[in-house]
Amino acid sequence: MDIKANLEQIKKSFPNPTCQLIAVSKTKPLADLQTAYAAGIRDFGENKVQEIQAKQPEMPADTRWHMIGHLQSNKIKYIAPFVHLIHGVDSFKLLLEIDKQGKKINRPIPVLLQIHIATEESKFGFDPSELEEMLNSIEFTNLTHVQVKGLMGMATFTEDQNQIRAEFRGLKQLFDEVKKKSLPHFVDLKELSMGMSGDYQIAQEEGSTLVRIGSAIFGSRNYPTP
Ligand SMILES: *Cc1c(COP(=O)(O)O)cnc(C)c1O
Repeated sequence: MDIKANLEQIKKSFPNPTCQLIAVSKTKPLADLQTAYAAGIRDFGENKVQEIQAKQPEMPADTRWHMIGHLQSNKIKYIAPFVHLIHGVDSFKLLLEIDKQGKKINRPIPVLLQIHIATEESKFGFDPSELEEMLNSIEFTNLTHVQVKGLMGMATFTEDQNQIRAEFRGLKQLFDEVKKKSLPHFVDLKELSMGMSGDYQIAQEEGSTLVRIGSAIFGSRNYPTP
């Protein structure tokens, strides 16, 4: 795998060159992250707390760590001090727990709310009605140590490009609608995290600001990750 060449190739293929690239390095050895870092990458995505914990001290201090997977409440405390952005916040319970951990260390923790846009039941996230309900609740308004920076979504795993596009378009519409609402000061919707190796071009055409790309940079992963 020529990581540097892959990165150049991918950047050249961006329909929107201002879209931010997150290199998804889950399961990959430190040497691969270092190669990507040397090629200019500062944003890395991981989906296991233990793996972030192991890699973080070994990488330069200006590395930005994105937690992109399903996060368990009891593990937030391990990444709370340094995590740059938690992408997959999919319940109020988890958001509340992140707020609690942020309070303990006096650090407002940046998060994205994950929206369920795929047809697969297996994927996590709020349905639009659940999102609406949470945003309107007093409990939500009372949070103090989270910063809600945007929304995240994953399209259905399918060959059907039209379906993928429609799902991303739906998420962008929701994003624009929510932005218009009057929301607490800690909500500032700037980022729309959508698009992976197989669909980042469609995602950018539909308004993505952050793409999470793994296998197209580092090669396929040796073992499946949840
Ligand atoms: C693994 C993963 C990615 C990257 O997937 P690729 O298809 O390898 O680019 C992106 N987002 C999430 C949430 C992931 O778990």
